[in-house]
Amino acid sequence: MNRKDFLKTGMAAGLGSVIHPFLMQKSPSPVSGRARNIIFFSYDGFTWEDFTSAQHFFYRNYGKMLHLERLFKKGLAGSMMSHSLTSMVTDSSAATTAWSTGRKIVNGSLSIYPGGQELTTILELAKARGKSTGVITTTTVTHATPAGWIAKHMNRRDEENIAQQYAAFQADVMIGGGMEAFDAALRSDRKDLYKTFLDKGYEVLTDHHKLAEVSSNKLLATFGEGHIAYEIDRKFRRSDTPSLKEMTLKGIEILNGSDNGFVVHIEAGRIDHANHRNDAGAALWEILAADETLGILMDFVDNNPETLLIMASDHATGGGTVYGVGERYRASSEIHDLLNKRTASFPWIMSQIGNSPSEGVIIDVIQDAAGVRVSRSQASILREAIAGEMVMPDPAAYPRQPVATLAYILKGGTNDDPTHLNINYTTTQHTAGAVPVAVYGNGVVVKPFGLVDNTDLYYWLTDALGISHENPVMTAEAALEYF
Ligand code: ZN
Ligand code: MG
Ligand code: ZN
Repeated sequence: MNRKDFLKTGMAAGLGSVIHPFLMQKSPSPVSGRARNIIFFSYDGFTWEDFTSAQHFFYRNYGKMLHLERLFKKGLAGSMMSHSLTSMVTDSSAATTAWSTGRKIVNGSLSIYPGGQELTTILELAKARGKSTGVITTTTVTHATPAGWIAKHMNRRDEENIAQQYAAFQADVMIGGGMEAFDAALRSDRKDLYKTFLDKGYEVLTDHHKLAEVSSNKLLATFGEGHIAYEIDRKFRRSDTPSLKEMTLKGIEILNGSDNGFVVHIEAGRIDHANHRNDAGAALWEILAADETLGILMDFVDNNPETLLIMASDHATGGGTVYGVGERYRASSEIHDLLNKRTASFPWIMSQIGNSPSEGVIIDVIQDAAGVRVSRSQASILREAIAGEMVMPDPAAYPRQPVATLAYILKGGTNDDPTHLNINYTTTQHTAGAVPVAVYGNGVVVKPFGLVDNTDLYYWLTDALGISHENPVMTAEAALEYF
């Protein structure tokens, strides 16, 4: 029996199903009353452990509570299961589709079933009812999480096609990175998608210094070829990029000028990227940048009746955990403060180290950017990883070299080492655990909820908008026929 047949046989018997059927039951929506505006704020690849790490760091170093802690403590918070149609571990495209359509699909695709049956998204439903719509993100604006609210595609990586679908859909506001999918000089087909948007009456912006001056009510803003630089590099290394807060302020200002209210998906998209690379410093500052943004969004809700804010992570990434150190674990919090010494992302560190570094260069760059003096032998492991000379016991276990080795040497030798940050990652992949979700409404009644499924959030959105729409259903079995 091959693997596919094995999976199908298991499912027919009801045992060993890809997803336990009992997990597919819909929970009652906690939302009642109508929302004029909906802000869906996603934290990509964010876990309860990440929250705890950032919460303690922020309090110990700034003496303040995170806005996210304030939100969670309002009582309308819980955990969300994230499994996709055919895997207990989701990717971002299946995860975002669960929110935008109420349906689980196969990882890697956007609001579509294998075989080509398309799902209707909440942004389409909202737009058809006269709402303004938008997507704002720190990733490329055509990346999976925002794209799943607009585009239909079996392959999330086809961002050039997704950009064309954006031009057809015409959301009012699109802000993020990702010039590469729009710019004629960067697209493989040399099509000028910026011109397409200009012809449709959009203001098109690629210089973030001019963001505050935007006065149009339709905006496509793409800053940089790929993703927006990490917050840690913006803060400490003067990366000339906009912050999530700046992008959000402008996006909300434009959308709030509409007659009929709006639905916007804002994403802190690079917590996930940092966690994939086991880069605890970059992840922390992505979370703090998200928190600054969350603060202004909560203020917006306070000042605008009939507004609903939903915060959710799409899945966990990296399996990062903060572990106890020292006698009675008393050294844990102080050692965790070593995060303070991280002042650059792993990509920035690697760019400074270069392609053929000496061990001395590696030691100096890491000292400067992470506040840790690695040994000459640790530096030589990284040098070998950069040169591709390292013999990995299991190459598949280290898919993101050489940064996986950088993470490894920063981790240090033992779990009791007081000179190394006490955060340990278990993988460079997504993980399966339930993730945080919270809601905050003004004039929209939200009841407490506990453990929910990612597809439930779609019904929160439709209930708040007074929309009733059921997308077609596909079973995991039927989906697997295509693979
Ligand atoms: Zn994700
Ligand atoms: Mg994302
Ligand atoms: Zn990811």
